[in-house]
Amino acid sequence: MLDKIDHIGIAVKNLESAIQFYRDVFGLECKKIEEVPGQKVNTAMFPLGDIKIELLEATSPDSPIAKFISKRGEGIHHIAYKVSNIEKSLSNLKNNNIELIHEEPQKGTGDQRIAFLHPKSTFGVLSELCEGK
Ligand code: ZN
Repeated sequence: MLDKIDHIGIAVKNLESAIQFYRDVFGLECKKIEEVPGQKVNTAMFPLGDIKIELLEATSPDSPIAKFISKRGEGIHHIAYKVSNIEKSLSNLKNNNIELIHEEPQKGTGDQRIAFLHPKSTFGVLSELCEGK
């Protein structure tokens, strides 16, 4: 069902200072900064080998990222897996009684369609499926 790891999402309080660190200290190139209004986040993407590091900053106090940081602090937020057919993957998961945060694909960064699975069903790891570039 999963093609590869697409990216690792990291929740940060301040996107600008996190970008500076990944760019100036780790020496990565920031490919794209994008707001995803549906998820109430600003994102910055850093390709690294075959995957990407996705920095996530809340754009509102009720953003899932704001809630995550207030509960658990900054850090690894989710792992995203590339799938070729997100509808098929979601229905496969539903058939396996996996709890989904999104039953239907949502708009992600770029042209990606995404859906999150509930960490309760995935051994504590918030997992994202993404389809497309
Ligand atoms: Zn993500």
